[in-house]
Amino acid sequence: MIFTVAIDGPAAAGKGTISRAVADRFGFAHLDTGALYRAVGVKGGNPITAALSLTPEDLDREDLRSLEAGQAASRVAVIPEVRAALLNFQRSFARREGGAVLDGRDIGTVICPEAEVKLYVTASAPVRARRRWLELGGDAAPESFETILAQVEDRDARDMGRADAPLRPADDAIHLDTSEMRIEEAVAQAIAAVTARL
Ligand code: C5P
Repeated sequence: MIFTVAIDGPAAAGKGTISRAVADRFGFAHLDTGALYRAVGVKGGNPITAALSLTPEDLDREDLRSLEAGQAASRVAVIPEVRAALLNFQRSFARREGGAVLDGRDIGTVICPEAEVKLYVTASAPVRARRRWLELGGDAAPESFETILAQVEDRDARDMGRADAPLRPADDAIHLDTSEMRIEEAVAQAIAAVTARL
């Protein structure tokens, strides 16, 4: 069976948790496409060369989840040749046998517009910044809440404002605003959307 669940939205909206839960529930493969851009961002050197030569080890680096890696990812993600280099891998993953969940920014719009289910997961910028800040240790976090909020807003602006594959909901995406929703509720809604389409 070919079945793709495309999950797009800004940073820290809950896409990762929802994607993993959906993949587990239905036995689908999961690809966190942000990790590809993060790996290119932290690899250094020419980003186009880095994107063309990514290895499994690049995707396994411990520093991929850092705030710096997120910022570096969004800077290389504006380069059309970087996006083009990562396209085929993502497309084949999406249409693999057995079902796939991909989360990112352009899955429902560019990578897999034919996805059977498209979700656009969002939350307000202060709510997302607070989640990141708590993940990083709250008062013990290396960055203040204000710095993290500024980074979240900066990344949103760059991801939504770029010319190639900007972050935006697909016309037929189901919107899930997790600002005031518990993550269990968001997961339940995502699972219901997939069940309805299967
Ligand atoms: O989702 P994550 O925060 O790991 O993504 C890091 C960055 O990679 C995003 O801010 C965005 O600039 C870029 N990205 C993208 N397209 C995707 C996934 C991530 O441009 N499909």
